[in-house]
Amino acid sequence: MPYIGCHVSISGGVEHAPKRAADLGCDAFQIFTANQMQWKASPITYDSQRVFLSEINKYDFQNVISHDSYLVNLGSPDPKKLAMSRNAFIKEIQRSTFLKISYIVFHPGSHMGKGDDYALQTIAESLDYCIEKVPASDTSLLLEITAGQGSNVGYKFEHLRTIINRSQYPSRLGVCFDTCHAFAAGYDIVKEAGYNDTFQQFDDIIGLDRLKVFHLNDSKKPLGSRVDRHHQLGEGFMGLDVFYRLVNDERFANLPMILETPGDEEHYAREIQILKDARK
Ligand SMILES: [Zn+2]
Ligand SMILES: [Zn+2]
Repeated sequence: MPYIGCHVSISGGVEHAPKRAADLGCDAFQIFTANQMQWKASPITYDSQRVFLSEINKYDFQNVISHDSYLVNLGSPDPKKLAMSRNAFIKEIQRSTFLKISYIVFHPGSHMGKGDDYALQTIAESLDYCIEKVPASDTSLLLEITAGQGSNVGYKFEHLRTIINRSQYPSRLGVCFDTCHAFAAGYDIVKEAGYNDTFQQFDDIIGLDRLKVFHLNDSKKPLGSRVDRHHQLGEGFMGLDVFYRLVNDERFANLPMILETPGDEEHYAREIQILKDARK
């Protein structure tokens, strides 16, 4: 059975996140390790780390995921922005390693007018640069499939494959599959035939062994819209069937599946229960 959970707040400190997740019924959870809308991040103290790790142990979480800041663009053509992004990403790897987090999910980046291939090359170089700055880390870096909004790359499986191919450290890289993003990018996983075809393509192009985390989100925008707007499960253009299919898909039985749907914390508890009840 997959590990079902959601994104939880670190308000008051990261050490409060595990209990928050447990209270919502999570088997796995995702956090930001710092304010995702600010460049400046304070380091995590040893006290926070100690409490965080003991709480993880207490609630027996096997899977903790961090999501990188939305400001980071590892594909930026602007040297100053690129340097800031790489620096922030290095700090993210350091914080996540310190907290013994298994996976960092990040949006690959955007080309800002330079074209997809420019960004794919820059992202691969950025990843190598950052990985080399934090040599002792077991945290894997997961490229998230994107909706392809604006000049974002990562909306095709081929993009993710190219980045992995161009990196010197492919063993440190994996993929996060966001259902809303894939649907908005044009992968019709809602229909059964499209679902089967999409994961066949994923396996052929990237390899299902690279798929480490799912983000389960319905979409406020239709198939192929290239717009990233999450919705609560069953409320958007995707409906509930695709999520029932995912939680019962044998191939994904041991993967964390994380909700990032809009709304208050109560709706997360409700959606987690819906998904748990749907597991056969
Ligand atoms: Zn996501
Ligand atoms: Zn999104």
